Amino acid sequence: MIVAEQKDLPDLKRMLKGKKKVLAVGCGTCVSVCFAGGQTETSGLAAELSTAASVDGESLDVEVKTVQRQCVQEFIEPLSDDLKDYDAILSLGCGVGVQTLAQRYPDTRVFPGLDTQFMGQPVEPGVWEERCVGCGNCVLEYTGGLCPITRCPKQLFNGPCGGSEGGMCEVDLSMPCVWSNIWGNAENLDLTDTLMEIRPPQDWSTSRSGGLRRTVVRDDLHQPSAVSTKDTEAGGLVEETPKPESPEDAFLREIGII
Ligand code: SF4
Ligand code: SF4
Repeated sequence: MIVAEQKDLPDLKRMLKGKKKVLAVGCGTCVSVCFAGGQTETSGLAAELSTAASVDGESLDVEVKTVQRQCVQEFIEPLSDDLKDYDAILSLGCGVGVQTLAQRYPDTRVFPGLDTQFMGQPVEPGVWEERCVGCGNCVLEYTGGLCPITRCPKQLFNGPCGGSEGGMCEVDLSMPCVWSNIWGNAENLDLTDTLMEIRPPQDWSTSRSGGLRRTVVRDDLHQPSAVSTKDTEAGGLVEETPKPESPEDAFLREIGII
């Protein structure tokens, strides 16, 4: 899930300075599970902001609405009825939620109430750890379900750097060396031979480095005409351009596999 934290109060006060009536919009999915932007946290923050404003001798009315999924346009549609009553929206969704609101309501100022951190999982009460950066070319098949991109600070793909001590990472001794764990798992499952196979270089063309990514997950649901004019006007990608051959494909072609 997406993990996020609330921005500091002074930062939020600075953003909302001069506003009289603000709609704080919570999200009932990921950020609610990590206690950053669900109904309870959004209501608490709204009260905190109003109180802080009155302590400063100002007046700020913050009303609260929580939608089930702020990143899906259908879920934020009902907000359109009342928006004219507000000076701004304070989104307590992740960065995708903020952008969905800003795109749908371009005439209303939308502020981010959260700092979106990463895709992760809870590892103990109150602690979330990063697990995936969405590289677009998942290698968990080869690494026994342990991600070397998020869990190895050097993002090594072909084994440990040699610096781990007692199974812990030399970069941060409080963190297990993921390659120590990958090898341990492979031994456990009798898969060390698989780990020793030489693989082509990782195809990074699917990663973030090429800019905005767009994926057609289901051809049967894809309707090219559904790209909105707002997307076009905002400079969003309209046509899919053919991708250049990836280094992985080039390697496979060179050795005659494809
Ligand atoms: S290999 Fe890529 S897609 Fe798979 S978990 Fe790691 S970052 Fe995510
Ligand atoms: S000690 Fe392990 S996790 Fe840390 S940088 Fe080296 S290989 Fe990566």
